[in-house]
Amino acid sequence: MHHESPIKRRKSRQIMVGDVPVGGDAPIAVQSMTNTETCDVDATVGQIQRLQNAGADIVRVSVPSMEAAEAFGEIRKQVTVPLVADIHFDYRIALRVADLGVDCLRINPGNIGREKRIRAVVDKARDMNIPIRIGVNAGSLEKDLQKKYGEPTPAALVESALRHVSILQDLNFDNFKVSVKASDVFMAVDAYRLLAKEIDQPLHLGITEAGGLRAGTVKSAVGLGALLLDGIGDTIRISLAADPVEEVKVGWDLLKSLKLRTKGVNFIACPSCSRQNFDVIKTMNELETRVEDITVPLDVAVIGCVVNGPGEAKEADLGLAGGTPSNLVYVDGQPDSKLTNESLVDDLEKLIRRKAAEKEQSEKNIIARY
Ligand code: SF4
Repeated sequence: MHHESPIKRRKSRQIMVGDVPVGGDAPIAVQSMTNTETCDVDATVGQIQRLQNAGADIVRVSVPSMEAAEAFGEIRKQVTVPLVADIHFDYRIALRVADLGVDCLRINPGNIGREKRIRAVVDKARDMNIPIRIGVNAGSLEKDLQKKYGEPTPAALVESALRHVSILQDLNFDNFKVSVKASDVFMAVDAYRLLAKEIDQPLHLGITEAGGLRAGTVKSAVGLGALLLDGIGDTIRISLAADPVEEVKVGWDLLKSLKLRTKGVNFIACPSCSRQNFDVIKTMNELETRVEDITVPLDVAVIGCVVNGPGEAKEADLGLAGGTPSNLVYVDGQPDSKLTNESLVDDLEKLIRRKAAEKEQSEKNIIARY
């Protein structure tokens, strides 16, 4: 199996969101956003921790009021993952969360108002080394651009983004990243492709308001997948009308499928058919949940019969090929042991954990040697 992604990434500058590098040759960062009431500090902290445990590199929190800004300060003290504050219009909120330890401001400079206010926010961001995300959205395009283009278009989104970019650049501020989101896959993909040619700052990808868990996942995978295959994108957020933890899981699966990042168990499983010698779907469903905590990258094949079983199982770190009376386990491509259908999930989980521990240890040994 090829472990290296053949994707050639667009060269972008690197910025730092807290201690997470975004852009350049940094791994593509997975983001999500809380959907709790920000003023409910306990609920928001709890959700941020769940997102972090699921693998979120960066978490965004909306800060709609000064009261929420104070709550943000409390939240900041209780979590370790870098936090982006999502702010619309009110520059005082941006100044306050900067003092309270924000790692990135999502604010569009063109929407802040008078130049004095823009300058105050940008100066503060510069002094405190806080990056800004310009976030253009097809649903909230400026009125004059809506008039000029008749409706949101990729060119309109990019023109809007470049307006905000030029405000920052006029103030000699280049510590920013940009998103041009739309719920329409074609519009978002075209907009990002156009924007990628115009600036060298990192791009934050997203298909906005993509929909519920299944349809939103597919839409995001198609749109973001097309861009990532082009080498475009430095950080991603999957927007789902679902538990944000699902956004993180989908983000990871997307990056894993393109071999842009590795983490945890990558299952190779057959869809099953009447030839299966054990219940593939039930086994997969149980295993997937049980081994969610494993972070070391591991390919595990779960294949129902000998048609494709040995071939796939041999390619994986650990593979199971269904057989009667017992199923055959391969480790590192070699036949290793046999498992019967009774306690199959328990036995497989043990083998996966053993292999993960071995791999982790050998990675530690390699690091220690250098
Ligand atoms: S590997 Fe075997 S059980 Fe699985 S789908 Fe193919 S033929 Fe069916």
